[in-house]
Amino acid sequence: MYEDEVKVEEAETPTYQDETLVCVECGKEFIFSAGEQAFYAEKGYTNKPKRCKACRDAKKNAGNPERQYYYAVCSECGGEAKLTFQPSQDKPVYCSACFEKRRNAR
Ligand SMILES: [Zn+2]
Ligand SMILES: [Zn+2]
Repeated sequence: MYEDEVKVEEAETPTYQDETLVCVECGKEFIFSAGEQAFYAEKGYTNKPKRCKACRDAKKNAGNPERQYYYAVCSECGGEAKLTFQPSQDKPVYCSACFEKRRNAR
């Protein structure tokens, strides 16, 4: 009697096994663990993760790039100057090519 009851309970609980998936981003294999599968099922997600944890974290951080660039007109050639600092009005700015030229001219 008791044994039958235990069996029924076990059948109702879905069992998960670690699954090896291939990341679409970097092509590396990663583990979709039993715990994660249970978490996904609980949330109602039907899709398996496409990316490994490293790539997912990279995507998350992509929203706030570390370096900000400013664009200005080069005082030398009039071309686009890409700057890592905010250009000030009273100082000339140079594009990387002109900056190199001026530095080498010294
Ligand atoms: Zn990856
Ligand atoms: Zn220039």
